[in-house]
Amino acid sequence: MQEKGSISIHTENIFPIIKKFLYSDHEIFLRELVSNAVDATQKLKSLGQLGEFKGELGELKVKVSVDKEARTITISDHGLGMTAEEIKKYINQIAFSGATEFVEKYKEKDAAAKDQIIGQFGLGFYSAFMVAREVEIFSKSYKEETEGAHWVCDGSTEFSLETTEKSDRGTDIVLHVAEDSDEFLEPARLKGILNKYCKFLPIEIEFEGEVINQTAPIWTKQPSELTDEDYVKFYQELYPFSEPPLFWIHLNVDYPFNLTGILYFPKVKDELQFQRNKIQLYSRQVFITDEVKDVVPEFLMLLHGVIDSPDIPLNVSRSFLQADAAVRKINTYITKKVADKLAELYRKDRAGYEQKWSDIGLFVKYGMLSDEKFYDKAKDFALVQNVGGKFFTLPEYQEFVQANQKDKSEQTVVLYTTDAEAQHGFVQAAQDRGYDVLKLDGPLDSHFIGQLEQKLEKTTFKRVDADTIGKLIEKEESTESVLSDDDKTKLQELYKAAISNEQMHVQVEALSPQDAPVIITLPEFMRRMKDMQRAGGGGGMQMFGSLPDSYTVSVNANHPIAQRVLHAEGEAGSKLARQAYDLALLAQGMLKGEALTAFVKRSADLLAAE
Ligand code: ADP
Ligand code: MG
Repeated sequence: MQEKGSISIHTENIFPIIKKFLYSDHEIFLRELVSNAVDATQKLKSLGQLGEFKGELGELKVKVSVDKEARTITISDHGLGMTAEEIKKYINQIAFSGATEFVEKYKEKDAAAKDQIIGQFGLGFYSAFMVAREVEIFSKSYKEETEGAHWVCDGSTEFSLETTEKSDRGTDIVLHVAEDSDEFLEPARLKGILNKYCKFLPIEIEFEGEVINQTAPIWTKQPSELTDEDYVKFYQELYPFSEPPLFWIHLNVDYPFNLTGILYFPKVKDELQFQRNKIQLYSRQVFITDEVKDVVPEFLMLLHGVIDSPDIPLNVSRSFLQADAAVRKINTYITKKVADKLAELYRKDRAGYEQKWSDIGLFVKYGMLSDEKFYDKAKDFALVQNVGGKFFTLPEYQEFVQANQKDKSEQTVVLYTTDAEAQHGFVQAAQDRGYDVLKLDGPLDSHFIGQLEQKLEKTTFKRVDADTIGKLIEKEESTESVLSDDDKTKLQELYKAAISNEQMHVQVEALSPQDAPVIITLPEFMRRMKDMQRAGGGGGMQMFGSLPDSYTVSVNANHPIAQRVLHAEGEAGSKLARQAYDLALLAQGMLKGEALTAFVKRSADLLAAE
């Protein structure tokens, strides 16, 4: 029997289109053909289990081979095979119409949407024509008393189909590699592709005498069958040379969607490192992509690992994916699982959890900031740490500072430092008053503070150097000033003249004699505005240009130096004022350059004069 025919229905010639437009992803032909071979093999196995196939299964490996001389790549399986009728139906009609649909969809889209379709559309069998000038199928069905079939198609819409001698059951797909696809005749190139897409396929794949895959990757197993070592080992297979992960979550659902996988929490302190290893997306153990945007919530993309789901529609564009109900459910499910895992770690081993906090804190805060639902769960296990190194949950911390750090309008004032070294003097002053100071020095902390102020009732946050200690948390009682109002004004003028800087707002305050003679602060509000401006936010603020620096210089009326500045003869008062001011600059880390040199010199002079 020999038959010639045409597979074209409507479209003239789709192959040049397939070839031209799928250029960026030619390599997926191998994934498609190997997964077809695996499907055919698994189907045969199931038929065997069902008793519908009673013959010998024999060896079921899928073999990939390349012959550089003959310019062929062959993919062979011992699966269920196809009769000539089946080839006509599945290859000429069904698979072809799939390819036609691809081209139709493809033609309608603009450039950006095209990029989305490429590599996401399961083009299947016809993707072979991206690299082959001719494709042959040799197949023999598992069904008894059927003849072998031989199909040839040269990349036009013409095909030929004839019976052939084939001794063993299964299918060989032979690609005659096109002139412009020489790269795929290189064994190393093919091996690379197989490693990328086929590493975890459920049927053994042999290439150059070597099995390249693990047929039962750990995410397909039950957690009860696995040890911690299994998880760590798998992580290192996925991401060689990475530090071991902190912990992991084994995902396993079958309703209302099907999903398995393992998500790892990486051990990375530097947020720039986060994106390096990506989550890999599989569909029935076939690698699809590591662009998991939209399938996984944004903040969870910091995690590593694999997700396997046949329910993720891969053949649609990005905008469809976002709107897809299954994808949304997957998102919610994963977020919940991650929150539950963190809650469990916190509950079961608080000390261990605290130790891990420096690695997971950034991630948890990112989640809280970007996802309401996650915030609601995480608010009970998110930690803050004070300068003494002690950890608190948010409710614990509120409880801890409530009694002592309420101001006169019943607001709890949380004091924090962004740099315990540089703000040491201010931290010390706060601690001397019996206040507690939190370390909030992470890259997301300024946003985190904003969020907490919104969420926590009657609570404000102030950086330790946002005001003089008495005003940082304003209480009813205030310190009496030893200076008369006239003297205060005089002192203020003296300092203004000595400092002569527009950006410094000089004021005289009655602080404790033990406090510093002069204190420079940057009001909380001002600093936040500037932070926002730096981050490019702040709405219309840009219109006013860059905000000027605007510090408050508080001169302590009750410090002995105040008297000396007021009553000194000639230049001496101004010199003293300048010296006290420079000390305050120094405490804020703001004394630099020429001013610093002048200060050092003046200090030496003053010491010599004693
Ligand atoms: P899909 O795999 O999504 O069904 P394909 O275009 O990859 O689409 O394949 C079309 C059909 O051709 C398959 O569904 C299957 O029936 C048949 N087929 C392809 N390759 C093989 C094979 N190696 N053995 C048996 N049947 C095959
Ligand atoms: Mg297929």
